[in-house]
Amino acid sequence: MPLGDAVRVAEPELVDVVVVGLGVGGEEVAGRLAEAGLSVVGVERDLVGGECPYWGCIPSKMMIRAANALAEARRVDGLAGTAQVQPDWAPVARRIREEATDTWDDTVAVRRFTDRGGRFVRGSGRIDGPGRVRVGDQVFQARHGIVLGTGTRPSVPPIDGLADTPYWTNHQAIEVERLPASLLVLGGGAIGLELAQVFARFGVRVTVVEALDRVLAVEEPEASEVAAAALRADGVEIHTGVRAERVEHDGSRFTLRGDGGAEFTADQLLVVTGRRAHLEELGLDTVGLDAEQRFLSVDDRLQVTDGIWAVGDVTGEGAFTHIAMYQAAIVIADVLARARLAAAGPDASGTASVVGGAMGASSSLAASGSSGSAGSVPRADYRALPRVTFTDPEVGAVGLTERQARDRGINVQIGYTKLGSSTRGWIHQVGDEGFIKLIADADQGVLIGATSVGPSGGEVLSALVVAVHAAVPISQLRHMIYAYPTFHRAIEDALRNLR
Ligand SMILES: Cc1cc2nc3c(=O)[nH]c(=O)nc-3n(C[C@H](O)[C@H](O)[C@H](O)COP(=O)(O)OP(=O)(O)OC[C@H]3O[C@@H](n4cnc5c(N)ncnc54)[C@H](O)[C@@H]3O)c2cc1C
Repeated sequence: MPLGDAVRVAEPELVDVVVVGLGVGGEEVAGRLAEAGLSVVGVERDLVGGECPYWGCIPSKMMIRAANALAEARRVDGLAGTAQVQPDWAPVARRIREEATDTWDDTVAVRRFTDRGGRFVRGSGRIDGPGRVRVGDQVFQARHGIVLGTGTRPSVPPIDGLADTPYWTNHQAIEVERLPASLLVLGGGAIGLELAQVFARFGVRVTVVEALDRVLAVEEPEASEVAAAALRADGVEIHTGVRAERVEHDGSRFTLRGDGGAEFTADQLLVVTGRRAHLEELGLDTVGLDAEQRFLSVDDRLQVTDGIWAVGDVTGEGAFTHIAMYQAAIVIADVLARARLAAAGPDASGTASVVGGAMGASSSLAASGSSGSAGSVPRADYRALPRVTFTDPEVGAVGLTERQARDRGINVQIGYTKLGSSTRGWIHQVGDEGFIKLIADADQGVLIGATSVGPSGGEVLSALVVAVHAAVPISQLRHMIYAYPTFHRAIEDALRNLR
C-alpha cells in the first residue's frame, strides 16, 4: 500500500436482517420478512432462486417429463397399436433454457425480491463478527439477525486424476445442448438415477458406477431393486460395489478405473456423489462457531446460535426444496417474533426509527393476531419427511425405513404388497412395477414409515405422509374408504398384510 493511503474501513449500515444466500430457503425468508416491513438485505453471489430452478428440481423434472413421454410412447406396442419414437433433445434443452431458466439469468427473480421490498446485494456474504455481514467492501449490521441459506455444492470425491478432467456435475448435465453418445454416471443416488434414466431414454449409452452395494442406498432395499431393474430395462448398465480409484481423460474419452480391476470408458463423465456445505467460507469463527462441521447444526427453531438462523440444505436436515420451504416458515415466524419483542422493548422506539421497518413488522404481526412471543413459533419436526426419487417408476418414501426402525429397537411390523397385484396395477399392465411397504410401530399402533414405488409413487405417498405425520391409528387407516381402482388403493392391501 502506498504510504499515506488510509485503510478503508466501511462504516456498517444498520438494517434489520441480512439473509446470505437467496436460494429456495433464503429467498423465501428474505422476501417474506421484507413484505412484513423489516429492512432486509438479501445477498446472493450467483443466481437468485438457487439450485432448484436453474440446475435442480425444475429443469431435471422437465427432462424427466420428456423422457417419460418417450417411455410411454414405447409402451404403445401391445397395448394400443404401434408407435415409432424418434427422440430429440432440442425441445428439452430449449424448454430448460427459455422456460425454466431464462438462459440462466435471474433478472426476473431479483425483481421478484426487490418488488417485495427487499434490498438486493450481489456478492459473497461472510459473517464479520456478531450481527455483521461483509459483502466486498460493504458491511451490514443486522439488528435482529442473520439468516444463512447458503445451500450446498456438488461434493466431488478426491479420486486420482479426476480434478484435471472436464467432468460434469449436475450443472453441465442440465445445461447440455447436445447429448454425448455415452455417459458414465458416478453415483447411484437419487440425482444420479434420475439423470441416468433420462439420458438413456434419449439414446445415450449410460453406465452407473456406485461404491455401495446397491443404488438408492438410503431407501428400502426393495426400492433399490425395482429402480435398478427399471433402469436396466432402459439399457442402463449398473455396477454396484465399485469404488472409483482413478479417472483419465485423453482429450475425447473418459476412463474410470475402479477397485478390483474394473474399467469403464465413455464420452462424458457425470459426478453425482452427494452435496457439501461450504461452511469455511462463512466467517463462522468470527462468532465463535465451528466451521469444521459438515452442516450447520440448528435447533428446532433453526437457530444456529442467538441471532443466527440457517435454512435449507446447509442445515443437513434433508436436501429438498420442501425442507427449505418448511424451515423458512419457521425462521420467518421466529425472526418476526424477535422483531416484535424488540419493538416492544424499552428502547424500541429509538432503534425502530433508525431502521424504519421494525415497527411496520410489529404492526403487521399485530394485525395478523400473532402474540409475537417465541412460544408461538412452530418447531421443526422431521418425523414425516417425504422424499421422492423421480425415476420411472417413482420411489416415494416417508419417515423411517425398516432398518432404521429396527435399529431404534422399535417393535416393528411390516406390510408389503406389489402394485401389480392391485386392480389398478393389473389394468395398467406394462410399467406397473412397484410396491407399497409400510413400517408400523406395533406398540403404538401407528405407521412410522412407508415406501410407495410405482408409476405415481410420489403422489400415492401423500396419503402415507398424512398417516405418519398425524400418527393416524392403523385401526382407522384400515377402516377408511380407498377409491377404486386407484394405485393408492394398494395401501389397503399393505395394511391388511401388516405383521
Ligand atoms: C439435479 C437436482 C435435482 C433436484 N431435484 C429435487 C426435487 O425434485 N425435489 C426437491 O425437493 N429437491 C430437489 N433438489 C434439491 C434442491 O434443489 C435443494 O434442496 C434446494 O435448492 C435447496 O435450497 P437452498 O435454499 O437450501 O440452497 P440452494 O438452492 O443451493 O441456494 C443456496 C444459494 O446460496 C448462494 N450462496 C452460497 N454461499 C453464498 C455466500 N457466501 N454469499 C452469497 N450467496 C451464497 C448460492 O449461490 C445459492 O444460490 C435437487 C437438486 C439437484 C442438484
